[in-house]
Amino acid sequence: MRCPKCGGQDDKVIDSRASKEGSVIRRRRECLGCTHRFTTYEEIEHEALFVVKRDGRRELFSKDKLLSSVKRACQKRPVAEQAIADAAERVTGEITDKFDREVPSKDLGELVMRELRSLDGVAYVRFASIYREFQEVGEFVEEIHRLATLPPSDKRQMALLPDGYEESDTKDKP
Ligand SMILES: [Zn+2]
Repeated sequence: MRCPKCGGQDDKVIDSRASKEGSVIRRRRECLGCTHRFTTYEEIEHEALFVVKRDGRRELFSKDKLLSSVKRACQKRPVAEQAIADAAERVTGEITDKFDREVPSKDLGELVMRELRSLDGVAYVRFASIYREFQEVGEFVEEIHRLATLPPSDKRQMALLPDGYEESDTKDKP
């Protein structure tokens, strides 16, 4: 870094501190020439990631948007705000790991559903039905159907179980 005071190129880092989320690192530096102290910030460069819909339309990926759709699915469900935020964070981390420039909306949806499934059964089914494109996938239609036909007590249980679907599968059998 070039010293803002004397223009010298040599400095030493005297303190490094990561931001709360760890995405920005603040470094306090001291110029070796004139001992002037200054601060630099280092952050991860996020290249634009696009969500590609089935009809080919592309939309800039937005973590806020993802978060609000997870929130919408969990509305009035006993899911902690933090658990929702963590789920959105995990999905974002995973798609930025796996995909470079574009992520098919189907893959994004599947990751969200995996998270919702472990959070809340009802939220999961809500999400699956909102994202109509997944309804063609047989297993989701089946699960939505099964949830709709279950007696109320089973519905309550499913909502409480983290992975209620398999559980109810075995229970349903005579
Ligand atoms: Zn200097």
